[in-house]
Amino acid sequence: MGKIFSNEQQELIKRARDFSTPFCINDGEKFKLKDGDPGNTLHFSKKHKPQALEALDNGVELLAQFQDLLYAQDRWALLLIFQAMDAAGKDGTIKHVMSGVNPQGCQVSSFKAPSAVDLDHDYLWRSNQMLPERGRIGIFNRSYYEETLVVRVHPEILAKQTLPKDLLGKDIWEDRFHDIRNYERYLTNNGIVVRKFFLHVSKDEQKKRFLERLENPEKNWKFSANDIRERGYWDDYMKAYEDTIRNTATKQAPWYVVPADNKWFTRVVVGAAIIEALDSLGLHYPEVSKEARQELAQARQDLLNE
Ligand code: ATP
Ligand code: MG
Repeated sequence: MGKIFSNEQQELIKRARDFSTPFCINDGEKFKLKDGDPGNTLHFSKKHKPQALEALDNGVELLAQFQDLLYAQDRWALLLIFQAMDAAGKDGTIKHVMSGVNPQGCQVSSFKAPSAVDLDHDYLWRSNQMLPERGRIGIFNRSYYEETLVVRVHPEILAKQTLPKDLLGKDIWEDRFHDIRNYERYLTNNGIVVRKFFLHVSKDEQKKRFLERLENPEKNWKFSANDIRERGYWDDYMKAYEDTIRNTATKQAPWYVVPADNKWFTRVVVGAAIIEALDSLGLHYPEVSKEARQELAQARQDLLNE
């Protein structure tokens, strides 16, 4: 079989690590959010942006090829989870990074406030139904992680979950972390590779982006009054994110804490992390057996003889 990736692509795969590793948390114990700078662009400045965008374009093409392999092999699935404060750029990042990927092999699920039916089930129920099939990439735009973020910041949401009173003790967050770790271990053991992204935007940059949404009529639709209310809970959210990442970052299912004050850099890091994850699977096109090859040759002959 010929080489799957060109030399340039192999170089790109090698370089992907330089962008993803610095932001990968695979052991949360010592994790502190303040150690990460939302404005970090490694050693790249604004003048490198065009080069970065070119690398991103090449990366998008590479991702499409990886996805084709994933689909052909039909063994693994990739689950990408995106969490962030409003205006951190989840939607734009998902749109750009996945822009070259065959829609048949990719599914985006957005998790909003749970419905009445959702609330009648355990909190993983609705996510479980949206897991990617083998050979596919599943993207969660928000996820079950809201259960230790927004639900923790707003205790009234937890009250609405109608859980038995005995289960609402002070250990509830520890229990949820434990359950989520086990759930992700279970997914991993089933061939669903889990990667989690926290787009780390600064409070100042969020303000700038909100103002843009308010001042530019074409961006007005993106703004909701609730976004300002949630901004008021910034510090509580940061604490909840830190504790969540600290307790759920594992080797099998790492978190990437991605600097999100510069959109171009966010996209490069996320793209690189996805490439690294796919590369780690050692994908290859399924081998065609000798019998199958003979069948193909026969079919060809039959067509030619028609
Ligand atoms: P957009 O970029 O369009 O604003 P979004 O993801 O912020 O995207 P919204 O409809 O604005 O979408 O917000 C969804 C809301 O649903 C968020 O405030 C989120 O915290 C909330 N949500 C998601 N999951 C849960 C959950 N399990 N329990 C309670 N609230 C949740
Ligand atoms: Mg929103």
